[in-house]
Amino acid sequence: MTEEKTNTANALPDIMSMTREELKEFVVSIGEKGFRAEQLFRWMHKGAPYEEMTNLSAAFIQKLKECAQYRLPIIEQKLVSREDGTIKYLMSLVDGECVESVFMRYEHGNTLCISSQAGCRMGCKFCASTLNGRVRNLTPSEILGQVSAATHDTGERVDGIVMMGIGEPLDNYDNVIRFLHLVSDEKGLGIGLRHISLSTCGVVPGIYALAKEGLPVTLSVSLHASRDDVRSELMPINRKYPIAELLAACRHYFNETGRRVSFEYTLIEGKNDGEADAVSLAKVMKNGMRCPCHVNLIMLNEVKETGLRSAGRRNAMRFAEVLKKNGVNATIRRKLGGDIEASCGQLRLRAKGGPQKGETEDC
Ligand code: SAH
Repeated sequence: MTEEKTNTANALPDIMSMTREELKEFVVSIGEKGFRAEQLFRWMHKGAPYEEMTNLSAAFIQKLKECAQYRLPIIEQKLVSREDGTIKYLMSLVDGECVESVFMRYEHGNTLCISSQAGCRMGCKFCASTLNGRVRNLTPSEILGQVSAATHDTGERVDGIVMMGIGEPLDNYDNVIRFLHLVSDEKGLGIGLRHISLSTCGVVPGIYALAKEGLPVTLSVSLHASRDDVRSELMPINRKYPIAELLAACRHYFNETGRRVSFEYTLIEGKNDGEADAVSLAKVMKNGMRCPCHVNLIMLNEVKETGLRSAGRRNAMRFAEVLKKNGVNATIRRKLGGDIEASCGQLRLRAKGGPQKGETEDC
């Protein structure tokens, strides 16, 4: 592990990053009965401030205030779509860094899109989150805190999670794994791992490591191109881990977990949206994957700074048709919250003063 700038503003133990067992030990160490840990665990995960923890004694809460760090992300901005009720949050962390989360209502339940880092160092050319590099990793409690804050704010259950907000989850591996254990604990939010998608730009060693964890999360891979020259231009990570290596890792993930891998493919005008690109993608999927997978076509959210344009809707439909004709399962992702800049990274970018300058990955 490299030393990095992290949440050091308060050096007290971060109790919301603790597992239930660790929390129990901590609670006992400050002189409280062990079973109180479970109550505290539940309250924190539901996003309750201390004042709402009505079954805990005032003396215990006072002790927690003195000996522990418990700080939920603060909702700085909340945009509600008039079209479909999608909510976009800008939340601030203890050091003033901001992240974004998006609450979406689907027929099958509520899904929250969350961030894993403040900024991103992967440098994908079309993405707003990476324009200023990565400032720091989020702690497990800061990742979980987004789910807790949204649960508390909406009063609704989050049924599923997509790690498709700001940051590269596999570039913050340990904290993300701990978060997955916490958020799925049935004494807390109890969100099923099968209802969690982890999206990666293609950090191959992280995919192999994840396959070993025994966590049945859905792996979602941002592919965006079927040829190495195009992918390397759009996504610098491809210079380190080219497509063939990436697909081998995805196949391994499927073989180990039995979970179908899904691929994101954002259609960018003149870059990857032609008929030949669709035929080439179908070939790569069939010959390279050779196991169940699914392609999600995404309309590019135009980020002014990148100069890239979205392919038209008609082009997207044609692209999907060609994939299907060539035997590849594909859908065009429905866009929610179109009126509130619901795609990630843009609010943070425009937040007061803008984000700090962060590091970039050398690929
Ligand atoms: N770092 C992870 C997760 C965050 S991005 C990853 O790369 O997968 C979540 C998804 O949004 C990725 O598929 C990403 O490529 C895509 N994305 C980023 N910027 C976009 C934009 N401007 N328009 C459409 N999709 C975008």
